[in-house]
Amino acid sequence: MQPVYDPGTVALSISIAALAFCGSLGLARWVRARIRMARAQPPAQGQLARGVLTDPLTGVPSRMLLDDRLSHAVNRADRANEGRRAGQIQARLALLFVDLDGFAAVNDSFGHATGDRVLQAMAQRLRGCLRDADSVSRVGADQFVLLLEDMGCEADALAVAQRVLAAVGQPVDLGERPLTLSCSIGIVIYPDHGRRDRLLSHAEAAMHQAKRAGGGGWALFDQGMGEDGRAQIELQEDLRAALQRNELLLHYQPKVDAGNGQIRSLEALVRWQHPRHGLLGPGQFIPVAERFGLINVLGGWVIREACRQLGAWSRQGLRLRLSVNLSVHQVRQGHVVEQIEAALREHAVSADQLTCEITESVAMEDTAATQAMLAGLARIGVKLSIDDFGTGYSSLSYLCKLRPQELKIDRSFVQDLETSTDARAVVDAIIHLARALRLTVVAEGVETRDQAQVLLALGCDELQGFFFARPMSVQALVAGGLLTSDGQDPVEFTASAYVPLG
Ligand code: C2E
Ligand code: MG
Ligand code: MG
Repeated sequence: MQPVYDPGTVALSISIAALAFCGSLGLARWVRARIRMARAQPPAQGQLARGVLTDPLTGVPSRMLLDDRLSHAVNRADRANEGRRAGQIQARLALLFVDLDGFAAVNDSFGHATGDRVLQAMAQRLRGCLRDADSVSRVGADQFVLLLEDMGCEADALAVAQRVLAAVGQPVDLGERPLTLSCSIGIVIYPDHGRRDRLLSHAEAAMHQAKRAGGGGWALFDQGMGEDGRAQIELQEDLRAALQRNELLLHYQPKVDAGNGQIRSLEALVRWQHPRHGLLGPGQFIPVAERFGLINVLGGWVIREACRQLGAWSRQGLRLRLSVNLSVHQVRQGHVVEQIEAALREHAVSADQLTCEITESVAMEDTAATQAMLAGLARIGVKLSIDDFGTGYSSLSYLCKLRPQELKIDRSFVQDLETSTDARAVVDAIIHLARALRLTVVAEGVETRDQAQVLLALGCDELQGFFFARPMSVQALVAGGLLTSDGQDPVEFTASAYVPLG
């Protein structure tokens, strides 16, 4: 077992030292003073220490205790490997950084009490994957670190990772229905993968790599991932400058009427003209903006620019409808409705020309902040569209309460339409649901004529995707009477985009 600071022992040694010090003051006086102090003080120093060293929710060690254990484990490994060359290393240890996939959606959909139960169950399962000498600590809301000591080789750590994937993947019984989760694991081995003070950040970088690969798997750290971390920090610095230097721009992708092929509205999608890396898509910088606290500034710019463009079109006699995407951080912060209201006013744009697209998992957050924000949108008359529908955990009763104007069927179902009867059944069900709730239903990511035809037959209202038009600049929108998708299938960019929509 690892040496752990036992709070009882610490308290006892302090008392002995104090006794020795106070001998000259008179024991009886000192004891009385101690009793008074004890009465006056909040009760349990021991409890306090335990609270710092263990995580109160799951009972497993906290980050602080992990740091202590890790230092001891590294020292032991260093002593065992002393004087050996790289090829002769015998004592190794591993850190497995475990992050639950999509856990935010569990909290969002089932509430925090259920989320807590899931975390407790997961902590138990992780413990069950380990030997006595190993430990599991909780280091973040849904993040745990496993410390494996005395490892022979990498393969031992990979075997534990495999056990963890299987254990986390077992359904959790929540009473009504079982919930199945997965996790992403980053693995780092000491001393092979770098210095002690970098181990945790390297394990986390590897975990992010596993997540990027789709989750439900593990990734072993390699030096390139550390560089990736540095690249993100550089990108973040560039992004701050980009906001000052006007390097962001919006591209616009039409949504067309499934019946007559006319353009009903446009979706604004942000781009970054990076001075060295060229034109970047949102997937390359929105996560950086979210991670480094820039998303509200960036999102505010998108709202203002969308309204400025609507105003400019309006002055040319073109009354268009436009949607913008909102990030979860914008939805949770209090000012987005005011930002939108101010931008609409500044550019004399009517609220019904603007739609906010919010992904399903965010829209379903039944929290005071989200509700206030959605109520604010409704109050000022801006429409709500639920993006990527079918990928989150929708509560149908909450959907009725929300009353969005539009559902956008996620691209993944559209892609599988021609080959999967399941995907077709899901799309059919979403279209029926939208009909029942009198919502417009849009299919996104339509790439082929066959997909478009199936969607038309199923009764989808609007279609959006490369088959009709890719996202394009304002210049291309205006100049391009004709567009091509993938160099084939020329698509007439009808004048309908420029006709008042009434
Ligand atoms: P989204 O809102 O679901 O947008 C659809 C994405 O699918 C866009 O990618 C679009 O270019 C792409 N797409 C459209 N048709 C097709 C198709 O037929 N096939 C394929 N394979 N892809 C298609 P993009 O522009 O890279 O945007 C990705 C995501 O980034 C968006 O997903 C949205 O969630 C987010 N995003 C874009 N602009 C903004 C923004 O201004 N603010 C925030 N917060 N997020 C944004
Ligand atoms: Mg969207
Ligand atoms: Mg989408």
